[in-house]
Amino acid sequence: MILLDGKATSAAIKEEIAQQVDQLKSKGAKVPHLAAILVGSDGASQTYVNAKVKACERVGFESTLIELPADTTEDKLMETIDQLNNDDAIDGFIVQLPLPKHIDEDKVTLRVAPHKDVDGFHPENVGRMALGLPTFLPATPNGVMEMLGRYNIETSGKHCVVIGRSNIVGTPMSILMSRNSNPGNSTVTLTHSRTANLKEVCLSADIIIVALGKPKFLTADMVKEGAVVVDVGIHRIEDSSKKSGFRLVGDVDFETVAPKCAAISPVPGGVGPMTIASLLQNGLKAVLKN
Ligand code: NAD
Repeated sequence: MILLDGKATSAAIKEEIAQQVDQLKSKGAKVPHLAAILVGSDGASQTYVNAKVKACERVGFESTLIELPADTTEDKLMETIDQLNNDDAIDGFIVQLPLPKHIDEDKVTLRVAPHKDVDGFHPENVGRMALGLPTFLPATPNGVMEMLGRYNIETSGKHCVVIGRSNIVGTPMSILMSRNSNPGNSTVTLTHSRTANLKEVCLSADIIIVALGKPKFLTADMVKEGAVVVDVGIHRIEDSSKKSGFRLVGDVDFETVAPKCAAISPVPGGVGPMTIASLLQNGLKAVLKN
């Protein structure tokens, strides 16, 4: 069984990006400058944003973190987005989700200028992705593609089952895996909460990408021998044996599923670090305009 090590793969990608940043610097060219807007102080969001800022610093990007209070009005947030849209020093930015309930996330996604949308969430970029045109690819699904590619996992002609159809993970994941590309060229089944016979569907899968947000949901009886399993889920569960009082688990029951797999990604250390590497790749793309 091959462990799809996202931590090591992400470190390799970051190293490549750092070298490209050095080359830009030595030519006197602009280095990528990314910004993040964080509204409120949700603990998980704060952790994710801090990790993104730190990753920018490590590869030599410039970064700006804009922290707004939880009671920020939608108008004020739109104003901040417009400032970043119009600021030539900023190459790309993200608005960390989820946002407080009084702010309409769809409006926010639409307001970010597509050429600065390094999250790849704007409908124009989603459309370009679906058509196979150059664009910012959404970080988590693209991180999974990078992981499959760098481990030379054969995807062409394989049956790939994606569990979960969210706009940021499952749906773009299904599009990327079905595109005429490598990795890609899979026959994809996109499953969701209304899917009948999920177990039977999964048992016919060569590759299962799990992103439904339920701890240890995918169990060994749902996986055929020799399958490749990628776990996108991330959950904190209580664990009194840990100093922190919790540990991280994914959407896959790793202990029972792993022995059946040809390859599997762990949690932590799997898709999570790949997401950040993928965001940095978009940052570089924003500057190189390719
Ligand atoms: P979401 O809640 O937006 O979507 C969940 C999807 O799962 C929905 O489409 C729903 O139809 C489907 N679903 C729910 N119950 C199901 C069931 N019983 N059978 C089949 N499908 C079912 O979640 P999301 O934002 O896509 O996130 C999914 C998981 O991935 C979460 O654990 C999240 O924390 C994690 N995540 C991780 C990263 C990362 O970088 N590692 C990034 C984004 C999300």
